[in-house]
Amino acid sequence: MRATREVTEQEKRKLEEERAGTLVELDHLREYLKGEVDADAEEADPDLYEREKTLALIRTLENKLESIEQALRLAEKGGYGICERCGEKIDPARLEALPHTTLCVKCKSQMERVAGMGVRPGGR
Ligand SMILES: [Zn+2]
Repeated sequence: MRATREVTEQEKRKLEEERAGTLVELDHLREYLKGEVDADAEEADPDLYEREKTLALIRTLENKLESIEQALRLAEKGGYGICERCGEKIDPARLEALPHTTLCVKCKSQMERVAGMGVRPGGR
């Protein structure tokens, strides 16, 4: 059975702040990448590694932004803090640490185990 839970003003503010902060960070990183485009591509690019790192960071932030927006959408429907997968309440301590999470610890680790069968982060 799916539980419902009202989002508090404080939680909502936290989510919105996080979204704003993530957007600023993304903007900044994208500007940085744009600045790098002019570099001479002919020879081995010493900045390539940096750029790859920045791209990876952008992807991470985009995922985070998606979670934040999803959490805000859920908040509007009275489902903030409810696990999207199993419908149980997410541990408040977890929400406190990760306000944009939409999965409980159990589901999250299950999904990570499934994802872990593909590409391992930091592997290779
Ligand atoms: Zn769950």
